[in-house]
Amino acid sequence: MSADIGWNLAHSYQELPTFFYSKVDPNPVERPEFVLFNHELAEKLGLNQEELKKHPEMLSGNQLPEHASPIAQAYAGHQFAHFTMLGDGRAMLLGEQITPLGERFDIQYKGSGRTPYSRGGDGRAALGPMLREYLISEAMNGLGIPTNRSLSVVTTNESVYREIELPGAILTRVADSHIRVGTFQYARQWGTIEDLQTLADYSMKRHFPHVISESNPYLALLKEVIKNQAQLIAKWQLVGFVHGVMNTDNVTLSGETIDYGPCAFMDTYDRQTVFSSIDVEGRYAYGNQPDIGGWNLARFAESILVLIDEDENQALELAKEAMADYPEVYKQHWLDGMRKKLGMYSKEDEDEVMIGRLLDLMEQHQADYTNTFRALTLDEVDDNKPLFQSNSFKEWQQKWHARLRRQDASSEQVKQLMMQHNPAIIPRNHRVEEALEAAISDGDYTMLEQLLHVLQDPYAYSREQESYTAPPPKTSQPYITYCGT
Ligand code: AMP
Ligand code: MG
Ligand code: MG
Repeated sequence: MSADIGWNLAHSYQELPTFFYSKVDPNPVERPEFVLFNHELAEKLGLNQEELKKHPEMLSGNQLPEHASPIAQAYAGHQFAHFTMLGDGRAMLLGEQITPLGERFDIQYKGSGRTPYSRGGDGRAALGPMLREYLISEAMNGLGIPTNRSLSVVTTNESVYREIELPGAILTRVADSHIRVGTFQYARQWGTIEDLQTLADYSMKRHFPHVISESNPYLALLKEVIKNQAQLIAKWQLVGFVHGVMNTDNVTLSGETIDYGPCAFMDTYDRQTVFSSIDVEGRYAYGNQPDIGGWNLARFAESILVLIDEDENQALELAKEAMADYPEVYKQHWLDGMRKKLGMYSKEDEDEVMIGRLLDLMEQHQADYTNTFRALTLDEVDDNKPLFQSNSFKEWQQKWHARLRRQDASSEQVKQLMMQHNPAIIPRNHRVEEALEAAISDGDYTMLEQLLHVLQDPYAYSREQESYTAPPPKTSQPYITYCGT
């Protein structure tokens, strides 16, 4: 049958105590059909695309890939600051694909049926949110932001029932791993110290092998996770990405973005931007993301404290010291990124003030975040946008130009740097909705495929990207996203 597809699945996660997972069986679906298939990713994984494309049943759970051994992972998490038991309620890990280059990637179904962690849920997923996750995760990858990726979406030809009847689907997700801060919280809360240590050792081996030989490897692990999160969140801020549900179960040890539920990209620059229908207090607003990152890391630090030092006070001191670096590390990544967005090769003390001033002006004049940087990149600031017409912007621009003249770089080099760091396009909410609507209601995937195509290289500044740069039409209704269901 399918021996030549190229599956090469390993199961290192199952070497952990069974406390960390449950063996599960996917629930077959009526009639699986591919609607999205990621050729580039299949290739990278060492899968034979032509063969695999003949077998949608293999990415729906009707027939397992060779040597798959599905499990649901156990984890806990703080959801909007409330601690609770969670676990894969509708996701199943098939195994870890070892690629031709020897890399290891989790292959996971999402929407393949109930698990011991499903609580009241049906274990299923609706087509819309799965298409959305595929699109946004691939767009993030195109932007150069660490993220889990999407191999395929298969429709089930079954309905799922939310408030209304919706078409069902299964997404196949590919990740460095699915180890979360919440996995550590689970081990700390309900496992033995030995369980916790086994998980920490496994995570180090998988993601940070260089820390194993450190004199205090668990402290070094904490520092690595802090570094990765700081860098990740800085990258989100730089492109205006709002994750929307930064619960501790949605924070990976690997530093990849995970859980594309209510996320969206900001149009108008506003630090208060929130899209999620359930985030009524704005806990996860754009401007709060760096601080929430710190809060989440503190939960991670707490859960491994007992491994850091036998002496509780000493462990606390060491963890606090490590945590104290987070704001600074975040700031450096953000500042470096902002300098590049503004064509700055060198560093000057006043840069931060200059950057802050531009952002304040953008907020004041309700300027579009992406398009402002795009216009600066292309030197197209002479149109009738309120920001560009304001005297305060013109003053800022003069100072910025003078700043750029003080560095050893030609205007061509400045433009190159800016093009590499200011995406010409982002997945605009209205374009995403329009493409999803055509796919779901009419089965027409043309717009979605086209959107995926232009988002593969958002820094291309190509002609075909131009029609995707328009901000949404002005309406009185703010854009609202719903937790992926
Ligand atoms: P999330 O908000 O995506 O982080 O999900 C929170 C928790 O709810 C996780 O444990 C999910 O596995 C679980 N969950 C979400 N949707 C479903 C569903 N339809 N059936 C079962 N569990 C679900
Ligand atoms: Mg989640
Ligand atoms: Mg989710």
